[in-house]
Amino acid sequence: MLRQLFKQLFEGPYTNLFPSKRVPKSTSGFLKGGKINPPVKVPENFRGKLSYERDKCIGCYSCIKVCPANAIEARIVDEKRKIRIHVARCTFCSQCVDVCPVKCLHMTDEFLLADYDKNSKNLTVE
Ligand code: SF4
Ligand code: SF4
Repeated sequence: MLRQLFKQLFEGPYTNLFPSKRVPKSTSGFLKGGKINPPVKVPENFRGKLSYERDKCIGCYSCIKVCPANAIEARIVDEKRKIRIHVARCTFCSQCVDVCPVKCLHMTDEFLLADYDKNSKNLTVE
């Protein structure tokens, strides 16, 4: 325990001060032009925002059936069955990715998803 105590006395903190190393004077000013302290690298197989390869989708709707959060909606594009994902409702469980027979859904490493509008383009995947 003493060894660990001394080690920590000389090592820096483990936490990553994100998005800023210091508390900005003005949050809105910082968001407009402040220098962002980069986030830590996400681990392999991280479950972030979904991506969707629409052209590969065969419209089987298995993803809709398994989604526990009711985050996937059926839609018709050029008379073909496709989907729309509402990221604000998604719990990032990855069940839709696992069930998709043509592997056109993927979990990306994107996690900065805060938005004022839950229906914004940033939170809609189609
Ligand atoms: S990751 Fe889970 S919650 Fe999100 S859309 Fe897929 S099945 Fe639904
Ligand atoms: S499971 Fe895959 S192929 Fe089927 S509707 Fe969903 S995204 Fe399309």
